[in-house]
This record gives sequence, structure tokens and C-alpha cells, in this order.
Amino acid sequence: MSSIFTKIINGEIPSYKVAENEKFYAFLDINPNAKGHTLVVPKEEVNKLFDLDEESYNQLMIFSRKIAIAIEKVIPCERIGLSVIGLEVPHVHVHLIPLQKMEDIQFIKKVKLLPEEFEKTAKAIAANL
Ligand code: AMP
Repeated sequence: MSSIFTKIINGEIPSYKVAENEKFYAFLDINPNAKGHTLVVPKEEVNKLFDLDEESYNQLMIFSRKIAIAIEKVIPCERIGLSVIGLEVPHVHVHLIPLQKMEDIQFIKKVKLLPEEFEKTAKAIAANL
């Protein structure tokens, strides 16, 4: 069965898309730690980060870096944090999270955003790529 992220990539489930190329898809996390929290996913459905082949792993990091630089232009923050977990969705994804303080990377406190705010944030990040 396809992962929820494959369904998002295939357009079967909606997402607030930030960017896409032939190998990767970036979109806003629906339950964000902070405004601008973005996920970067390889289109290839691989469970664990370190199961990616070396080239795909490097390309994922290069693509994530571009997205992180764009997020930082849009969201006021100290820096962009990067985390890889995958305990909820077993399809590799990089979390890019605007950080003000250590708790922002801890997946404990969440922020509630309206659909319009997700929409606006995704568009603003995309416009700064
Ligand atoms: P983890 O697998 O532990 O790294 O967490 C999976 C992340 O995916 C969580 O931060 C969820 O909020 C996020 N997530 C799950 N379903 C969706 C969805 N349909 N759209 C956007 N983000 C999602």
C-alpha cells in the first residue's frame, strides 16, 4: 500500500505544496511545530533515511538546503532546524523547522494555523526559492 506521502505526491491527498522536482516534493507539515514547518520527501518510497542510496541522500540534502534558505527568508526565526524522525510516516522525510528556541524542534508544542495561513506561507516560501 502507498504511504500517505506517496498519495500526497500523486495528488490523491491535498497538500500545501512548496516545491517539486523530478525526485523530491516539499510541502507544509499539517501539524506544525512552528509556522513554516516544511517536509521534504523523496518521491521514491523508501522507509528509512539511511536506506537511501548515497546519491539520493546527497540530493535530498541539497534540495532541503534550498528550501531551508527560502523558509528563512520568509519566516522570522533564529535559524532553520533539520530533523529526521519517521516514526509516524515510514516514508523518508526531512523536517525543516523555523526555530526561536530549543522546544521548537521537540515535537511537543504545536501551532494551529488557518488554511489561509498555510496557503500564504507555502506560496511565500515558493516565491523565494
Ligand atoms: P514523523 O514520521 O514522526 O517524522 O512525523 C510525520 C510528520 O508528518 C508529522 O509531523 C505530521 O504532522 C506530518 N503529516 C502527517 N500527515 C500529513 C499530511 N497529510 N500533510 C502534511 N503533513 C503530514
